[in-house]
Amino acid sequence: MLIFGHLGIGLQLSKPFIQNNKNNFDLKWFFLGCLLPDIIDKSTFYLTKLYLGYPHALLPGTRTLGHTFIFSFFFFILYKKSKKFAHVFFPLMIGIISHIFLDHIGDTIAVTFFSSSLPAGTTVNTSEVLQGVFWPFLGFHFAETAYTDLGDHFKRASLPHLWISEILGFLALTINFKFIKQNRRIFKKD
Ligand SMILES: [Zn+2]
Repeated sequence: MLIFGHLGIGLQLSKPFIQNNKNNFDLKWFFLGCLLPDIIDKSTFYLTKLYLGYPHALLPGTRTLGHTFIFSFFFFILYKKSKKFAHVFFPLMIGIISHIFLDHIGDTIAVTFFSSSLPAGTTVNTSEVLQGVFWPFLGFHFAETAYTDLGDHFKRASLPHLWISEILGFLALTINFKFIKQNRRIFKKD
C-alpha cells in the first residue's frame, strides 16, 4: 500500500477510535503515524544498503522496526506518561497500528487475487510476518525485502492491488473531507 491507501483507508478504519477519543486526537499526527513506518524503515533500509551493503543482518528489508507492534507500544507508553502531549502520541500510535494492519491485509489480497502480477515466488509467509510484527518476541530476524532498489519500488507501484488501494484511499479521503475539516478544528490545540 502506498500513500493515499494508508491515509484514506487508515482514516476510514480508525474513525471509531477517533470519535471515541476526541480530546486526545489531533488528525495531523494521525496522518503522520499512517506513513511513519514506511518513512523510517524505507530510509533506514536504503541508507544501510548504501553504506553497509545488502543484505544487512539487522535491517535486511523495508519492513523492520517501524513495522513492529513494539514501535507502536512505545507511543502508547509516551501517551500514558505525558498528558500534555496525549493528543500527539495517541493518534501517532493509532496511525502506526493501522499502517501495519493495512500492509498485511494488502499483501494477503495481492497474493490471493493478483499473484500473476507479482514477482515470481512472492508469497505471504505467515510465520515470517508474525515474527516481524511481534519482533523481538518470536525471534530477532526480519524478512528480506523482495524489492531491493528504488527502481523495483517504482515498478511495484504499477501492480493492480496498489493502484486500486490508492484510488480507494483517495476516495475515502474525499468522502471524509467534511469529517477531516470538522475534526481538525475540534482537535486543534496548538
Ligand atoms: Zn509499510
